[in-house]
Amino acid sequence: MSDLDANIAKAEAYLARYKDTGVLNRIAGEDRPAASGQTFDNASPVDEVFLCKVAQSGPEDIDAAARAAHAAFPEWRDMTGVNRKKILHKIADAIEARAEEIAFAECLDTGQALRFMQKAALRGAENFRFFADRAPSARDGQTLPSPTLMNITTRVPIGPVGVITPWNTPFMLSTWKIAPALAAGCTVVHKPAEFSPITARILCEIAEEAGLPPGAWNLVNGFGEDAGRALTEHPMIKAIAFVGESKTGSMIMKQGADTLKRVHFELGGKNPVIVFDDADLDRALDAAIFMIYSLNGERCTSSSRLLLQSNIADDFIEKLTARVNNIRVGHPLDPETEIGPLIHKTHYDKVTSYFEIAKLDGATIACGGERVGEKGFFVRPTLFTGASQQMRIATEEIFGPVLTALTFDTEEEALEIANAVEYGLTGYVWTNDLTRALRFTDKLEAGMIWVNSENVRHLPTPFGGVKASGIGRDGGDWSFEFYMEQKHIGLAL
Ligand code: NAD
Repeated sequence: MSDLDANIAKAEAYLARYKDTGVLNRIAGEDRPAASGQTFDNASPVDEVFLCKVAQSGPEDIDAAARAAHAAFPEWRDMTGVNRKKILHKIADAIEARAEEIAFAECLDTGQALRFMQKAALRGAENFRFFADRAPSARDGQTLPSPTLMNITTRVPIGPVGVITPWNTPFMLSTWKIAPALAAGCTVVHKPAEFSPITARILCEIAEEAGLPPGAWNLVNGFGEDAGRALTEHPMIKAIAFVGESKTGSMIMKQGADTLKRVHFELGGKNPVIVFDDADLDRALDAAIFMIYSLNGERCTSSSRLLLQSNIADDFIEKLTARVNNIRVGHPLDPETEIGPLIHKTHYDKVTSYFEIAKLDGATIACGGERVGEKGFFVRPTLFTGASQQMRIATEEIFGPVLTALTFDTEEEALEIANAVEYGLTGYVWTNDLTRALRFTDKLEAGMIWVNSENVRHLPTPFGGVKASGIGRDGGDWSFEFYMEQKHIGLAL
């Protein structure tokens, strides 16, 4: 039996439990189908074969989950930080123990390659450990005495919160949002993406088995326009942490207006990697390839625009083309696969539509630009050259393994191109001129910038975007600022 066949057999065994019951909601510590009894089908992006049914929830289910989160809030809020820390570490232990199951389920559900999903599961555990260790000090404040008052500031958890996550790396992103909420003392209603519901279910189960009180974490499946919308409008939900598309963020802001929701948005990107002629070009090449062709390019921080200084462009593109043509597209459970299928048909149609758009706009397809196979949603890694900043391939988020290369002559021109999009999530600058790096990063419109490095996440640092890429930051104490209220107490002396 090949490694791939063995992995498929294992994955099918892990998913067998959903064949009968489907993916149910979990509300107040109980498995529940949608109140309407409705379900929708979840299919694998690998071969479009049915994987499982999923509860198709609506406002009634969200209401039950919000009430459960509200009822569980006082107990969870008042538990000591030390005890919350213990439970969150147990969740991390259980994630590690079930890492293979999580990675395999994620591969079949999302089409992401196993080599990356194994790490994503472990990153989920790390997120829990990081915030577990901070739970005991989450409420820490300070004293700011004045001549007549002893002023004390403290923090309290905001209350039950809603977490809405997308289909790309859904497991890791769910942990990134939910771990700090729980560490802060909030209770949670989670609405995962409809296209990849399985690992959210595993995660919720793990949390309860680790000792989380029933109702502290509720899971409601369904579509954005029903379940998602109801969550953002529910009066018992005090804040919404959302990861997804910019236009959905804007809808959520409107939906949450009547109940004055606090929102935190991590949205789309069209991130530039800027390579100057004095950079270490071999390292820049490795990083540029990694940042767009890993995780199927379905990654918010991917560098989907490559800005090359003109005098190095031809040579760089030649090397890049040779490397991109060698990237292995295949079954996500094949350990050799670098790029798996895109998540679903609508997204596949969107990504592949840019092959035609690029040609019509006058760009060149230097590699890829084709679908692969008859079944599933596979595309060849693609590189567009001969592009200009006005083209749609240079401005719109494609969210696939598709890179648009542009050239520039001067630093000013590079900056102008880099900033000429509506997004501002990440930027990657390659130069050995430190002064230029500082000057450039100061003006580059992005929430997170790496110089001479690919994206390396360090959990205490702020994560988030500017412009249409997001509102707010998380990571380190920034996550607690979102999930907690600052309180001031002035004691007369
Ligand atoms: P999406 O916005 O379509 O969906 C995300 C989630 O929002 C899903 O759970 C969906 O059901 C829900 N939703 C949809 N409409 C809703 C509504 N009206 N009210 C409430 N919820 C609603 O995004 P997607 O296609 O799942 O994910 C891809 C997008 O996510 C890309 O744009 C990507 O850049 C972005 N993303 C950003 C980050 C970041 O950190 N900035 C990270 C990952 C993904």
